[in-house]
Amino acid sequence: MNEVLESTTPLLPQNKARYLMGVGSPDALLDGVIRGVDMFDCVLPTRIGRNGTTMTSEGRLVIRNAKYARDFRPLDEKCDCYTCTNYSRAYIRHLVKCDETFGFRLTSYHNLYFLLKLMENIREAIRQDSLLDYRNQFFEEYGLNKPNARAF
Ligand SMILES: [Zn+2]
Repeated sequence: MNEVLESTTPLLPQNKARYLMGVGSPDALLDGVIRGVDMFDCVLPTRIGRNGTTMTSEGRLVIRNAKYARDFRPLDEKCDCYTCTNYSRAYIRHLVKCDETFGFRLTSYHNLYFLLKLMENIREAIRQDSLLDYRNQFFEEYGLNKPNARAF
């Protein structure tokens, strides 16, 4: 995908918005912006949220895992969304394990908030002329610098 973006985005008009459809993982958003993409849309944050998978500042978190049964921290300790402000991993895991719709709403809400915050941070990094540094820092914290690492 990155090779295709590097070949095609320079051919697009500079004064028009560039849209990349179906891309929604944090790494692909960052790599897309670096290659000149302005807009994205994707079902990923809600689709994985409905499976109990979340994006956090430290990487992917699968809330169904037993290790979260008594984990009373928020999904992401660096997140100030409604879900992270009000509910623990243990409670969300309970809801998800019981197929309670509210649990999937909470994980989906957090994932959408996470990506909106990521895009806000990307815009700020562009203004500060530090997008590549931001990308490298994000990849490091998210665990994407390891061999065979994947966002999802
Ligand atoms: Zn959150």
